[in-house]
Amino acid sequence: MVSRVIPVEPFDLVIFGGTGDLARRKILPGLFRRFLAGQMTPDSRIIGAARADLDAQGYRDMIRQGIAEFGGPESTDGDGLAQFLARLDYVSIDATGEAGWQQLSGLMRPGVIRAFYFSVAPALFGALAERLHQHGIADPDSRIVVEKPFGRDLDSARALNHTLAEHFREGQIYRIDHYLGKETVQNLMAVRFGNILFEPLWNHHYVDHIQITVAETVGVEGRGGYYDKSGAMRDMVQNHLMQLLCLIAMEPPSLFEAGAVRDEKLKVIRALKPIAAHHIVRGQYDSNGDGPSYREEADNPRSFTESFIALRAEIANWRWAGVPFYLRTGKKLRARHSEIAVVFKDLPHSIFEGDEKRHRNILSIRLQPNEGIDLQVTIKEPGPGGMRLIDRPLDMTFATALGEEAAEAPDAYERLIMDVIRGNQTLFMRGDEVEAAWAWTDPIIAGWERRNDVPKLYDPGTSGPDDSLMLLHREGRRWREIRG
Ligand code: NAP
Repeated sequence: MVSRVIPVEPFDLVIFGGTGDLARRKILPGLFRRFLAGQMTPDSRIIGAARADLDAQGYRDMIRQGIAEFGGPESTDGDGLAQFLARLDYVSIDATGEAGWQQLSGLMRPGVIRAFYFSVAPALFGALAERLHQHGIADPDSRIVVEKPFGRDLDSARALNHTLAEHFREGQIYRIDHYLGKETVQNLMAVRFGNILFEPLWNHHYVDHIQITVAETVGVEGRGGYYDKSGAMRDMVQNHLMQLLCLIAMEPPSLFEAGAVRDEKLKVIRALKPIAAHHIVRGQYDSNGDGPSYREEADNPRSFTESFIALRAEIANWRWAGVPFYLRTGKKLRARHSEIAVVFKDLPHSIFEGDEKRHRNILSIRLQPNEGIDLQVTIKEPGPGGMRLIDRPLDMTFATALGEEAAEAPDAYERLIMDVIRGNQTLFMRGDEVEAAWAWTDPIIAGWERRNDVPKLYDPGTSGPDDSLMLLHREGRRWREIRG
């Protein structure tokens, strides 16, 4: 079965920072795949904008290389690539200067959707927003897309929101969290709200705890300078893990629509309890002889920045009272593995004599690898000898269950950019959500700074510091295995 692709309306998309890493690695190859799929119509255009002195042909050559490197198997489609590259233009522009803006204004067409992707440092957002208006390039219907990091604390996020609000309505601002664009994350919504089966159990009466793990095998590598000022809490928890937690924990919205979904997510963030220091474990990867330590990669021998964090959160509302949400994320761990696991409670009483084992239903939503969902159920071990019980997954790996359709699904960036053009903000963060998330993380980070908290060292290729195991062990629970 081949998936149905509905073309979006014609657009002019300006990518500020169009020569940068994100544009070459993700945005342009993604748009190319949407072009090949027929979702981006041939009368749409993409205009790269950066300070580099290039002409349209020079920019097309640069993007051709980017697509060859990062575009996947489709990059060999020569005709398609030539047609796509013909949709590209370039303007040499300085966000903080005056050069190039008149030229950009002249390029914009009336009557098509205008979108502006701010793929530049956040310090430039204000200058870009101001100049887009000064030169009459943005119209009341234009959309702007902004990337993480959205601030580094509540004050800076507020200031950014304020800067953007001077020129754009909230309905025009698309704050990307690419985790929300992942197929499996949307499937989480489909499973929760498209089946009668789960919702009645989705509360403290039946759920023992929830685990969210986002494990990476890579270290900070070339991003050490940026990462060392950020750390896992700011780089991963405040945005990606928090968004996953919201989707798991929110009340059913009345409609799968931006306002309703984001209202419910916001309520979850606001209901998060403050966390006690002993419910957080920070880690930093050491050198195991093979590779450099975090401090070496970050080029900061006295760095106290965490490359790993595990924490136990609680949500103060009727649905989730007393249910721990264990979150963990880190670099240089055993495997690249992201998963949300809903661990249900033990049976109130077992009728099977002699079966001492604890059998638990676990719903696991795998983000990577092997995207899919499985439900651990208890069944009878085959063969004679009475009723011995074993646990097995009811496995739905999307690649197997959906075949070609799963392979053709747009990746997170592709889907989100098309949503921008469609004017659908459901999978983007609203300004108040981002601020609420910082309001929760700020006191935690301030506590570390006050105490000069030193992260625990861990060996690369492991599950992080042993203390993170204790976080669950002391409550009679254990983390699920990190496996690739
Ligand atoms: P990058 O590789 O450093 O690219 C920055 C881009 O901005 C370049 O095209 C640069 O071109 C342009 N630029 C810099 N100063 C400018 C100015 N004054 N006026 C106009 N253009 C200017 O950065 P990136 O990795 O692509 O990241 C872009 C944004 O996305 C950042 O906010 C980053 O935090 C965020 N982000 C990136 C990733 C990723 O995987 N790379 C992931 C998530 C979020 P010129 O120097 O020629 O002007």
